[in-house]
Amino acid sequence: MSYDFANILFAGPCNRACPWCVGRALAAPLNQENLTHYPPRNLDALIEAVNAQRIRDVILTGTNSDPQLYRHERRLLALLRCRLHEGARLGLHTNGARVLRRLETFNRYDRACISFPSFDPQRYRRLMGSPQVPDLAAILAAATIPVKVSAVVNEHNEDDLGPFLARCRAIGVRRVVLRRLLGDQRPFAPIAGLRPVGHFKGNPVCDYEGLQVTLWRFDRTRALRSLNLFADGTLSASYLLHEGAARRAVDARGAGALL
Ligand code: SF4
Repeated sequence: MSYDFANILFAGPCNRACPWCVGRALAAPLNQENLTHYPPRNLDALIEAVNAQRIRDVILTGTNSDPQLYRHERRLLALLRCRLHEGARLGLHTNGARVLRRLETFNRYDRACISFPSFDPQRYRRLMGSPQVPDLAAILAAATIPVKVSAVVNEHNEDDLGPFLARCRAIGVRRVVLRRLLGDQRPFAPIAGLRPVGHFKGNPVCDYEGLQVTLWRFDRTRALRSLNLFADGTLSASYLLHEGAARRAVDARGAGALL
């Protein structure tokens, strides 16, 4: 099987409390805390697979925690740079809460995606479980790597997407993904100023005055294939979610996009 990307997943307490956090639906053993564990369990197997299959993108992300809470983040990046094939790119998927405190480490990635659904503290709190909105403008100003913004869209922010995109553009964001959560089949309401320019994996890609905006709905997304190293050391091509008392394997469309 060929993969679109590989994930190194972190688990433990988070600095946000999103009501929609996918990590809560994972089978409990997969969320075994690893924020202090160096190197992550079974990392050798992941490195071997990434090198053998020349997987280009390796992403540090979380199931129920933020990878920038990982105590050995910088050390792990150095190890990966040393042991992964020369074409590998390191990406970070984060909620952004610790970027400015870990700026030097943040800029060691090749690129980053920040989960950021609103500039408004009330809306942000409803979506992320905290009123503390990261200073996205300061992050953009300090970043030396490409930064994409990923915004979950639901009833708490869908009436504010025009102003949200305008502000993203004003502070220098170049790419935004607006995404419905897995199972949310509601279409996006029209947003003034969006001009379709293409598709990615079945999702429309639009231009918003120079800002690239992807309208992502999992229910119509053609599957992305990811290799996932879970916090307990499980290495799997599937995302293993609870369904009642049973476990079911789902494809990896949601993986890598938990944050
Ligand atoms: S979705 Fe991400 S930021 Fe939100 S609680 Fe879960 S791990 Fe933390």
